[in-house]
Amino acid sequence: MATMPRSGSGELSVHDDPAALSALTRRLRRAGRTVVLVPTMGALHAGHRALIQAAQATPGASTVVSIFLNPRQFTSQRDFDRYPRRLDADLAMCRAEGVELVFAPSVETMYPPGFATTVTPGALGAELEGTSRPGHFTGVLTVVAALFGIISPDRAFLGEKDYQQLVLIQRMVADLHLGVQVVGVPTVRDADGLALSSRNVHLNAAERRAAATLPAALSAGAQAGVHGPDAVLAAASGVLAAQGALALDYLALRDPALGSPPRRGPARLLLAATVGTTRLIDNVGLHLGIPEVVPDVAPEVKGRGGL
Ligand code: AMP
Repeated sequence: MATMPRSGSGELSVHDDPAALSALTRRLRRAGRTVVLVPTMGALHAGHRALIQAAQATPGASTVVSIFLNPRQFTSQRDFDRYPRRLDADLAMCRAEGVELVFAPSVETMYPPGFATTVTPGALGAELEGTSRPGHFTGVLTVVAALFGIISPDRAFLGEKDYQQLVLIQRMVADLHLGVQVVGVPTVRDADGLALSSRNVHLNAAERRAAATLPAALSAGAQAGVHGPDAVLAAASGVLAAQGALALDYLALRDPALGSPPRRGPARLLLAATVGTTRLIDNVGLHLGIPEVVPDVAPEVKGRGGL
């Protein structure tokens, strides 16, 4: 893969050399560009496209899309081996979205001999996804910290689809003073509600129908929010229990920072389940209790110019 430091030409250049890309993004920042990063593992779909489009909407953006299937965040060799790899199609999507810089390093480039340092999350890293996938978030934080080190982005765009990952990366940026603005992008879903995921290709038609129960459960839970936390969990569990073809890993109600859920106010409902041989995760934001109604100002008062 050639390194072609020609950003600004409007053409896509693909980089695999961290030092050359660092020099390029430094130059771009000095020239007044805002360097934005969309980290991915490839096999790009419309969810990734939404992240790229949000990144590109940043005024003066020079967008870097990283494509790196990070072995250190996989806790199952089988999951890693069968993860889809489609670099040519990924580059075509980046080109179609007007992305000028792709970073697609090899495993040896990211983890050369002697590589020893890792970034470990706090207690939250061992909960929810961390329970079934020990070490997963250490793999995620380590690679994201390395990408931030190479690219020094002003902003990074991450999907709410991986909500715990988003929260842990925000925490890491705050704790380590990394100075990157982390932006969360809402989950993109298919018509049946299923969150887009590179792993959905493994689902057959029957599994796909079963998988659609996950967003249905989340939405039933969110709708029950007005009745409080117990009602949310009961509503979501009821929908999940009616679908025999999925094995639930967890269903959890938390506050938006993934601490204990409040009795009322904003919250997050998260779940993971295995359908066939495919593990899926999803989550939704909701409000617990009756939302405080802010009375609208009567039109005739508005018309008089207010206070
Ligand atoms: P991945 O390639 O799976 O590591 O995902 C790269 C980024 O895309 C992460 O920030 C994900 O949260 C985000 N992403 C994945 N699927 C979706 C989706 N359906 N909607 C929005 N963002 C997504």
